[in-house]
Amino acid sequence: MYVVGTPIGHLGELSARAIAALRAADLIACEDTRETSRLARHLGLTAQLVAVHEHNERSGAERLITALRDGRRVALVSDAGTPAVSDPGARVVRAVQDAGFRVIPISGPSAAVVALSASGLLDAQFRFAGFLPVKSAARRKVLESMREQDCVLVFYEAPHRIVECIDDIATVIEPERELVIARELTKLFEQIVRLPVSDAAAWLAADPNRQRGEFVLLLAAAQPEEGLDATARRTLDLLLEELPPSRAVKVAQAITGAPRKLLYDHAMARGTDAPQDEDAV
Ligand code: SAM
Repeated sequence: MYVVGTPIGHLGELSARAIAALRAADLIACEDTRETSRLARHLGLTAQLVAVHEHNERSGAERLITALRDGRRVALVSDAGTPAVSDPGARVVRAVQDAGFRVIPISGPSAAVVALSASGLLDAQFRFAGFLPVKSAARRKVLESMREQDCVLVFYEAPHRIVECIDDIATVIEPERELVIARELTKLFEQIVRLPVSDAAAWLAADPNRQRGEFVLLLAAAQPEEGLDATARRTLDLLLEELPPSRAVKVAQAITGAPRKLLYDHAMARGTDAPQDEDAV
């Protein structure tokens, strides 16, 4: 089974190998037959289109395996980009492999990597986090949990949530940290801007068109506080939510071995909602 990456916008990004695989296929498994029939018309494909989406991946996989057993050539695509990346496909791939058939990837664009390549961010590592939760409270919680990570964080976001998502990022992340907003990649109105988190809401508000289309958000890596490493800082932050500063510093020191003065300075700079100390640190 060929897993075929398709364009995320510009149809010219369909590779020659992808076209050949789709033309050779007897059966193309896709997320939405209407979406893929546009591509089929564009390429003059003759394959039968079969909808295999998140609600029928198991039975869909069985159908594809039967077709493979019958000697038919099968390709798997999603609506756009790389199947199985924030898209259905992973279960099908696994089931087909487990049934003893070879799965051959035909690489194509994935919005996360396309955005990263033109982000201008210098951090060596990235974490693809996909879509954040839909509700603001849950979204902030996830952002809090990732705040200290020393790699670029890559998110997908839908246009109807972009404003509130950016607001939550501004609430949780330091104002000076760099954020890249990449919208409508490879399309006519493509925009890629890199700005401090504190300026992102104003950038979006300046033109309603900037809130339309498809978005990838990339958040630069956390910068380690001088002297205190990310693990020590994270440990102390968690402890400060439960304990008064003096206890939190003591326990964080026992766990991480970080210098007491640095931990104490961090605790004082951060403040805390936890019960205050009766005894001084
Ligand atoms: N499988 C796809 C891939 O490999 O990129 C991702 C599918 S996911 C359901 C769709 C999301 O990807 C969109 O909501 C958006 O966040 C992002 N995306 C897809 N195409 C995009 C584009 N042209 N520009 C910016 N973001 C895009």
